[in-house]
Amino acid sequence: MRNTNEMEVTFDSYSANERFARVAVAAFMTQLNPTVEEVADVKTAVSEAVTNSIIHGYEQEVHKISVNCQITENVFIVTVKDTGKGIEDIEQAMLPMYTTKPELDRSGMGFAFMEAFMDKVEVKSAVGEGTTVRMEKTIGKGRSLWTTQSL
Ligand code: ATP
Ligand code: MG
Repeated sequence: MRNTNEMEVTFDSYSANERFARVAVAAFMTQLNPTVEEVADVKTAVSEAVTNSIIHGYEQEVHKISVNCQITENVFIVTVKDTGKGIEDIEQAMLPMYTTKPELDRSGMGFAFMEAFMDKVEVKSAVGEGTTVRMEKTIGKGRSLWTTQSL
């Protein structure tokens, strides 16, 4: 793809690093001049995906999580990857209110939030190999059009 600007961070799956991941992604995203709402949407989605890697992927063991961001024009793509236990049935896992950890007070809404706040969410996973969540959001939808028309 042309004119792509990319960054990647890899960190240990301590829950303290969930905030780091969120802020790192938000910092990289600022070059798109997002609204406060767009930043909040992406931060929430990243937070849900990273929390899933920590809690479900690694079940609190400490291993590596990678977050990759790519900007191509006004499309922001963020990918969260773990090499944890993987998901058996992705379709079922993505259903709202489906959780395998109700005992931890999980509500099973993580994927539903990611889908609500991002334009596209794709999950790849293999049992025993890990999970990759790729999320896409177009930033400034309608705004550039408005600027052009108002000039
Ligand atoms: P909540 O996000 O509301 O706290 P939750 O994490 O259980 O609850 P989702 O984020 O929607 O809900 O995830 C649904 C299910 O998918 C999880 O319960 C878990 O079984 C599985 N899952 C999600 N992410 C991963 C992952 N990275 N590795 C392994 N399993 C995962
Ligand atoms: Mg979750």
